[in-house]
Amino acid sequence: MSEIAPTFISELYPEELSELLGLKPFQGRQLFQWIHRKKVFDVDEMTSLSKELRARLKDGYSINRLEPFRSSYSEKTETRKSLMKLADGETVETVCIPAEKRHTFCVSSQVGCAVKCTFCATGESGYARNLSAGEIVEQVLHFMSDETGVMDDDRKPNIVYMGMGEPFHNYDAVIRSIRLLMHEEGMQLGARRITVSTAGDVKGIERFTDEDWQVRLSVSLHAANDTLRDELVPMNRKYNLERLMGSIHNYIEKTGRQMTFEWTLLQDVNDSIEIADELVDLIGDMKAHVNLIPCNPVSGLGYKPPTPSVSRAFRNHLERRGVLSTLRLERGQDIDAACGQLRRRTLTT
Ligand code: SAH
Ligand code: SF4
Repeated sequence: MSEIAPTFISELYPEELSELLGLKPFQGRQLFQWIHRKKVFDVDEMTSLSKELRARLKDGYSINRLEPFRSSYSEKTETRKSLMKLADGETVETVCIPAEKRHTFCVSSQVGCAVKCTFCATGESGYARNLSAGEIVEQVLHFMSDETGVMDDDRKPNIVYMGMGEPFHNYDAVIRSIRLLMHEEGMQLGARRITVSTAGDVKGIERFTDEDWQVRLSVSLHAANDTLRDELVPMNRKYNLERLMGSIHNYIEKTGRQMTFEWTLLQDVNDSIEIADELVDLIGDMKAHVNLIPCNPVSGLGYKPPTPSVSRAFRNHLERRGVLSTLRLERGQDIDAACGQLRRRTLTT
């Protein structure tokens, strides 16, 4: 029935809760709603459940496992970052980037990452393990709950899978977590408000193309020729640009959706006008948008962001040649918001 073997209550669908606990369908839905709609984790507060069921839940099961353990907040940008402790003592990061209309939550899909992009703090710290679907959803529930105080009304957040980890190396749990976030008995988040970002895992892109939904896909490109991309994103040695672009063309053709590319701007590495031209040659013929992110320097990795004028020149050149792009603010740099950095600092101090 399910693609993984879930053991924790927060990652089960209502019908699976009923099956696990021997409940009637409506009771499974009630329990699911307490967690995913009302964001209640304390069994004693689940007043519509029978005393007997509450006692059984308390004795034998764990509802949630994430414990916010350290957090940082930037006055300037209002960006909030939480380091979450998992049941086995590992830690992951989740970031909330607020906005007038809609907040964006940036969630992690793995503890560490095996891809090892050369500018990324998460890659540098190595790979420890996959997160379960429940551990991913609980990051969202954390920021949605009253305690964090970031959601003061009923507006729904955007979710981006751009925290720690390569989502397509943990495909099944990521897909399950998205279905839980969208569930009609739960948070009911809209598919178009959810974006999965991959460093270019072609197998994952192919599977994602066949999913029957409107969830968005973003590919972290950073280089438009194989020599440079082999160096920056080592996964390129497995799936080179020709294969990657083939899978993206297929994705666009089959789904009709717009593609987003992430491009971390690294000073004197991928920020020149010649390289902007290479990028246009690679993607200019497709329905695409490029997010330009000036690099957040990670100590010891040796990369710097370009000066603002160089970043703007890169952006303007793309625009002149007809490629849509956004130059992202360097938000949260003062709180180590670049992926993996708060955890890295915590582990090394
Ligand atoms: N593994 C996935 C998703 C998580 S990384 C991926 O690579 O797409 C999310 C984004 O953060 C990626 O686009 C990545 O390139 C970017 N990133 C990583 N380290 C960065 C840094 N030091 N400065 C700026 N962006 C960075
Ligand atoms: Fe992994 Fe993404 Fe970091 Fe690359 S940028 S090491 S894929 S988390």
